[in-house]
Amino acid sequence: MKSMKNNIVVLASNNKKKIFEIETLLSENPSIDLKVSSLRDIGFNDEIVEYGITFEENALIKASVPAKLGYFGIADDSGLMVDHLDGAPGVYSARFAGEPCDDSKNRMKLLECMQGVQHDFRKAKFVCTMALVLPEGSNLRIPEEWQITEEASDFLGIRRDHAMVVRGECHGYIATEETGSNGFGYDSLFYYPEFDKTFAELTNEQKNSVSHRGKAIREFIKKMISVFEGE
Ligand code: IMP
Repeated sequence: MKSMKNNIVVLASNNKKKIFEIETLLSENPSIDLKVSSLRDIGFNDEIVEYGITFEENALIKASVPAKLGYFGIADDSGLMVDHLDGAPGVYSARFAGEPCDDSKNRMKLLECMQGVQHDFRKAKFVCTMALVLPEGSNLRIPEEWQITEEASDFLGIRRDHAMVVRGECHGYIATEETGSNGFGYDSLFYYPEFDKTFAELTNEQKNSVSHRGKAIREFIKKMISVFEGE
């Protein structure tokens, strides 16, 4: 990694917590030397339109922004999918109750939609995808088995051997009322049977050990290190 830009990975987000989390996980592997920056750090302040209809597409759309500017781009996209609602709110999880985004209103709307639905029909899952897009001119390649599909490549205008996306899922049930005060989003309504608790009753460590995000990040970092070590 000779030039400056080449050891900077840009997370297509300005969320400091996410950046710190990923940098910490990366630093656990001393064989690669990567610094994680935000979009703001590289002078990009525009809003990214997430026009994808899947979590994978939206993560790739966001990760391709820094890649087009010559950086290694990474991004995540996540949300809740409820069986009884045919997978909704899905990619619209953050704005389920409309704009501006409001977690509490989203939870209220979800409870309304699930009113009277019996436990066995309240199955749901959290999904988190994480994407890596290599910059134009990079000598690195994504191994064939991890490359994005041809359809995604055509739709998004991203080279197959320059992009990969991983998915982590966590399965549970939508509770009938809110319980717990940790976490964010739908955590207080997401009942996780293995712990007999909602996500909002778990510590950060407990949640990370089983969550969609924890799973996705662990797999993503492993694959990303392998891509960079193949340099
Ligand atoms: P983002 O794409 O990571 O910002 O997440 C989109 C939306 O999905 C959030 O605003 C939350 O409503 C929901 N969500 C994603 N992950 C979680 C989680 O771990 N707990 C609760 N809600 C989540």
